[in-house]
Amino acid sequence: MSRPVRVRFAPSPTGALHIGGVRTALYNYLFARQNGGQMLLRIEDTDSNRFVPGAEEYIIESLQWLGIKIDEGISVGGENGPYRQSERREIYKKYVRQLLLDGKAYIAFDTPQELEAKRAEVANFQYDASTRMQMRNSLVIPEAEVRQRIADGEQYVVRFKVEPNEDIHLHDLIRGEVVINSSILDDKVLYKSADELPTYHLANIVDDYLMKISHVIRGEEWLPSAPLHVLLYRAFGWEDVMPQFAHLPLLLKPDGNGKLSKRDGDRLGFPVFPLEWHDPKTGTISSGYRESGYFPEAVINFLALLGWHAEGDKELYTMDELINAFSLQRVSKAGAKFDFEKGKWFNHQYLIQKNNDELAQLFMPILKEHGIEAPHDKVARIVGLVKERVNFVKELWYETCFFFEAPTEYDEKSLKKRWKEDSPKHINELLNVLEGVDDFSAENLDKVVMAWIAEKEYGVGVVMNAFRICLVGAARGPHIWAITDEIGKEETLARMRTALKKLS
Ligand code: GLU
Repeated sequence: MSRPVRVRFAPSPTGALHIGGVRTALYNYLFARQNGGQMLLRIEDTDSNRFVPGAEEYIIESLQWLGIKIDEGISVGGENGPYRQSERREIYKKYVRQLLLDGKAYIAFDTPQELEAKRAEVANFQYDASTRMQMRNSLVIPEAEVRQRIADGEQYVVRFKVEPNEDIHLHDLIRGEVVINSSILDDKVLYKSADELPTYHLANIVDDYLMKISHVIRGEEWLPSAPLHVLLYRAFGWEDVMPQFAHLPLLLKPDGNGKLSKRDGDRLGFPVFPLEWHDPKTGTISSGYRESGYFPEAVINFLALLGWHAEGDKELYTMDELINAFSLQRVSKAGAKFDFEKGKWFNHQYLIQKNNDELAQLFMPILKEHGIEAPHDKVARIVGLVKERVNFVKELWYETCFFFEAPTEYDEKSLKKRWKEDSPKHINELLNVLEGVDDFSAENLDKVVMAWIAEKEYGVGVVMNAFRICLVGAARGPHIWAITDEIGKEETLARMRTALKKLS
């Protein structure tokens, strides 16, 4: 049965959105757009213990920054709301009652202490068909007593009654056929009277059903829950509208085995969050891609290729190109190593694609922070000279500072290697030569200076390296005549005089 494509991103607001979650959102978005479908945003906040203030706003801002647009749900509204699960209590209660009436679920009074004691007593204890009749629940306790206990205010949970020894088949769009025997599942808690809220499983299924979700695209960590979800669909009689599942591969550590964690980012120096995150509980600040200077297009491109690639070796994709090229069939089953150096490479690619005017615009505020006000044209020209050398706009300062201000100190290493015994003499003579030159254009200077070096039989490298140290303060920077061209005759001579004074 083909249905309109409707996918959802359903994060729990338990902290900053992890970069893996961003990829999940992106794949959902690409799939929805490609199929002319819709992308929903639902907040799964039924676990009040793990709720973190600010997390929902953070999720919305992250998606906005990245250009992942939501068609329905949190932040946009729609006809299937509310889209925050904590506001849907009454809806879930109705479905919990239905399962109880149909004998597909039961009420259990076992306290946490009793369950703990049972676990201590029985190795690998699991609340299931083999043990449920030894527990304190409505399958064992007479109905009148169950009613009385509830009327007396005793807390309870509702458990799903999983029938044992049945193969549950699941067709995953990425993993193919998955078969799981129901005997390994436990009787999952679906509802807790204590907070009058359902657990993730019940709320997730009911909402996917009511919100007419056609495809569930989510992280691999949810694959173990999928068989239970299939059983829930069946218990409700919703098999024919059960969404198709696609479980995405994990993002792995850059340098080893296992799942990428925040600690890997701290250890190796890269963000694992889209935006900077201020943890309201601990007060710690974690870096974000945005604040680290990444372009959102680069982050999107980078993430899209972590776990998916098209045929061929094309690597640079705009969002529209991704929407065209993406397919779940080409998402890999194996985990994707998080190669953050590649992330920088993507940023570099997007940076050099920008024209000099755009880059100047982005760079001017940074110049200003360094106390420099320069005309846009000049900044654009200078940025054009060095953009190939940087991955981030902020790195432009290091590459261009000497265009805007004279060096105040000289790099030790460069001096050791490039400032020779004869250098003061060379620079002194070159100063005399340049004082007499009126046409300070690159072509003319090159002609004049090369002729002088040849006449004196000096080494070109020796002289030019020392000259560079005078202008830049180190043995780096773009072509020397590009520098003199930009700073002009007076400044060039002044820097040479200063260097002679300081370095002789
Ligand atoms: N609330 C779950 C999460 O935080 C959603 C899992 C799902 O997409 O079904 O990832």
